[in-house]
Amino acid sequence: MLEDSNIYVLNTWNKRKKEKEKDQGKITTGSNKLDEESSAKSIESNEPEKQSVSGITLPKRLPDQIRKLRGLLIAKRGSIKRNHKVWTVKGDQNKEYQVKFDKMKGFSCNCPDSEHRITCCKHVYAVEAFEDGSELPPKDELSSKLRELEEQHEEASKFTQNWSAYNTYQCTEKEALYKILDEICEFLPEYQQGNGRPKTPPKDSTFCSVAKVYSMLSGRRFDTDVRYLHEKGYIQSHVHYNTILNCMKSSELESWLQYLIDITGLPFVNVENIFAVDSSGFSTSVTDTWYEHKYQVKKDERIWMKCHIMAGLDSKIITAAKVTQHRVNDNIPFSDLIYRTAERFNIEEISADKAYSSKSNIELIRKLGAEPFIPFKNNLTGKSRGVSEWAEEYRKFVNNKAEFSKHFGNRNKVESVFNMMKSKFGVQLKSRDEQALINEVLCKVLCHNICVLIHEVNENNVELQPMYQYGIMDNKEGGVCASD
Ligand SMILES: [Zn+2]
Repeated sequence: MLEDSNIYVLNTWNKRKKEKEKDQGKITTGSNKLDEESSAKSIESNEPEKQSVSGITLPKRLPDQIRKLRGLLIAKRGSIKRNHKVWTVKGDQNKEYQVKFDKMKGFSCNCPDSEHRITCCKHVYAVEAFEDGSELPPKDELSSKLRELEEQHEEASKFTQNWSAYNTYQCTEKEALYKILDEICEFLPEYQQGNGRPKTPPKDSTFCSVAKVYSMLSGRRFDTDVRYLHEKGYIQSHVHYNTILNCMKSSELESWLQYLIDITGLPFVNVENIFAVDSSGFSTSVTDTWYEHKYQVKKDERIWMKCHIMAGLDSKIITAAKVTQHRVNDNIPFSDLIYRTAERFNIEEISADKAYSSKSNIELIRKLGAEPFIPFKNNLTGKSRGVSEWAEEYRKFVNNKAEFSKHFGNRNKVESVFNMMKSKFGVQLKSRDEQALINEVLCKVLCHNICVLIHEVNENNVELQPMYQYGIMDNKEGGVCASD
């Protein structure tokens, strides 16, 4: 059912691309993601981009300016005492904090602001002003400037999330998900109906499987929803719950889901070029009995599934996913994920954690023309043994840890992809069959991608246009999902 008025999206990329280029134009070279975010809400564009405090270069952002002004006010009050290289600063509510100086690390403070965030707190600013000794502006001037900045900051943080849009699309997410799912499932193959019992079309069984996982209901309890889907015209017939359960056990569904995950990634082809790889577990209720030779005993072990993903870090879209049993080494699906992503995306950077640190992985990333950011395991050295990339990477890692960790820090975002997925669609899998477990996780991945699309549409006001207008899917008959 593709009514023109109802057709949803998949044209997010042009607008996002434009925005991204605009952002990049604004940013001077060498600035990191933090600067990028702050310059997006930039209120202080006429100020110098960076400032140097105690030997560390910090991005200059609004909260930092506020801290500095508060520091100046403390210095103006004169509530600082010096004892050798330790300064006692009296902060709010007469609490006292110790600021210390170390030749290597510069200033440090024991207040919560300083300890929990890597930042220069107001007490350090106060000590700097105190030591500098130059004349400070009058107190009134400082307080009025501070008030002004605090108001600006409050205003700016109000707009970080558009709550009314957020509420609206959260309330209508399910319907929006159905519409997108309906549109992309149109690209699945159709069965040639023979003489026997009519088969459920792949579109219907796939649609129901994904919608069932999204609902987190059991097959029988999902039956009411199936009736709704049929009444609304998303599926051709009322699919029996056993049919859905059988579909979940089929390897065909796995290839169809992979295909749909590919499609949902396509709108981001021109936007994403920085990626990260990670894996995370989903628990099951299935136990596996195995024989431990060493102690000659039988052991029961709860199995869990491992989901390996590669995600674009700008939108958090999953560009490739692979589900395995938990004993599978992380390195095995790694090349699969990368090749699958490289088929469609222009990869510039890939970050991953220590588990993926191996010569062959680095070689592979280099071969694709991308830059790897994978930290070295503690027991490894830079001895290349024929792989020059490895030695080069090791040098990069050792010589420039700060620069490295800036890029590597991006990897945290891939962990938030798993957090989003697990908190929304659950971490406990319902299926018992191994293939069904794989499909269930892939359904969650697909649901995540569709929710990312819905988010783009609603929060970034992207215009909705039918996907097939962009000639994405000419290969309906060929390729990944040939029917039997
Ligand atoms: Zn402090």
